Amino acid sequence: MADKARIVIIGGGVAGIEVATSLGRGGKAEVVLADRSLSHVWKPMLHTFAAGTARPDRQKVDFFAQARRNGFRFQPGTLIGVDRPARRVRLAVEAAQGRPEADLAYDLLVLAIGSRANDFGTPGVAEHCLTIDDLTEAESFHRQLRRHLLARLDSPEMLEVAIVGGGATGVELAAELKHAINLASAYGSPDLPRRLRLTLIESGPRLLPAFPERVSRAAARTLSDLAVEVRTGAMVTGADASGYTLKDGSRISAGLKVWAAGVKAPDVLGAVEGLERSRIGQLVVGPDLRTTRDPAIVALGDCASQADPKTGKSVPATAQAARQQAQHFASHLGRAWARGDTVATALPPFHYVEKGAIVSLADFNGWGTLGRYTFGGGRLNGLSARLTHDLLYRQHQIGLYGPLRGTMTWILDDLDHLISPPVSLD
Ligand SMILES: Cc1cc2nc3c(=O)[nH]c(=O)nc-3n(C[C@H](O)[C@H](O)[C@H](O)COP(=O)(O)OP(=O)(O)OC[C@H]3O[C@@H](n4cnc5c(N)ncnc54)[C@H](O)[C@@H]3O)c2cc1C
Repeated sequence: MADKARIVIIGGGVAGIEVATSLGRGGKAEVVLADRSLSHVWKPMLHTFAAGTARPDRQKVDFFAQARRNGFRFQPGTLIGVDRPARRVRLAVEAAQGRPEADLAYDLLVLAIGSRANDFGTPGVAEHCLTIDDLTEAESFHRQLRRHLLARLDSPEMLEVAIVGGGATGVELAAELKHAINLASAYGSPDLPRRLRLTLIESGPRLLPAFPERVSRAAARTLSDLAVEVRTGAMVTGADASGYTLKDGSRISAGLKVWAAGVKAPDVLGAVEGLERSRIGQLVVGPDLRTTRDPAIVALGDCASQADPKTGKSVPATAQAARQQAQHFASHLGRAWARGDTVATALPPFHYVEKGAIVSLADFNGWGTLGRYTFGGGRLNGLSARLTHDLLYRQHQIGLYGPLRGTMTWILDDLDHLISPPVSLD
């Protein structure tokens, strides 16, 4: 082993950037963070970037700058393989960023590369539907939305958008798009909201299956008051250029099609030979977050599958769970080093603490659950849920920037809202 343990973290999302920042600050190890992108964004905001109601430039965290300030090194690159016996990771690097490949040696490898929407092999989806799984995809969706909108500002044509997936992502995206179109109608096309045909398609019997039924019903009511057509119990069997085909043979026509259903782990994890994987391709980890067949590899966040050692329930693929795992792992590893232990030391088991779930329907409504309790609902009460939603992001930002810079960033964002247009079409 080198003088200092070499920790390589792949994926600087919700979990990865928190681990890199915390371990880098600790200074006990040589920490390298690699990501296929050059900046971090908070994934739960992607639908607002897609709709144009928030601007990504202010919300990006530059990996190089974050590394420089917090004592770790950043390596751009996309994971393409792991040589487990030699303990080396292979990354493909874009030509503009230097060498075509990078090869990193590790003593401990942390995989935190997130997840993607799951089209379950439905024909036509890969070719004709957009997904919103990273900033590039959110920006690409925004460009297409803008093109469709500009073409309709002074034409009577309908704008048909259909989203598949009635979980939090699909529901939040539908509300945000409706909000964006209402705002964009002020740009010289007052009847634009009436020319939007927005359909939300869910194969299950109700929206938001992870929430109590009361919230599902209220969310469906809010969406239908906003003239969003909610189709539950509707199984999509195919997509093509002009829309979706359902199992009963009927059609939903849409020029803009989004797939926001299901989750699966990135395919590249299949190239890491010999590790145990879940049904949706995640790496199976034990109580201390190390993969079951290789203790030198830890998996965190959406790409990990863990059964909580206390309850036996699967830890959900949410930002809340990813943050808790990252904080547990980094703080216990830090303490183990302080005692003089090595990276091989077993860490205490991770228990997920469900702090509630929040769903926020743009400015229209919002709900949260806390144990058996549900709060929010209604324009005013919905605000409490929306603020709680925002708070999770602000806590993450303060963790990355420290209390002073984190709070200043928050204040600057609020000031920026007062100056910038409420929806961007540039
Ligand atoms: C629109 C939307 C709304 C959401 N809203 C909520 C919410 O309200 N509350 C909530 O708790 N959760 C929400 N989620 C889920 C939440 O975003 C994820 O659970 C969370 O981001 C998972 O964190 P992670 O660190 O595992 O992965 P991510 O945050 O997805 O980070 C993965 C990182 O890995 C990098 N990466 C991926 N592949 C590679 C590769 N091959 N090589 C190198 N780098 C790679 C990516 O660039 C990224 O930086 C939402 C998700 C979406 C899409």
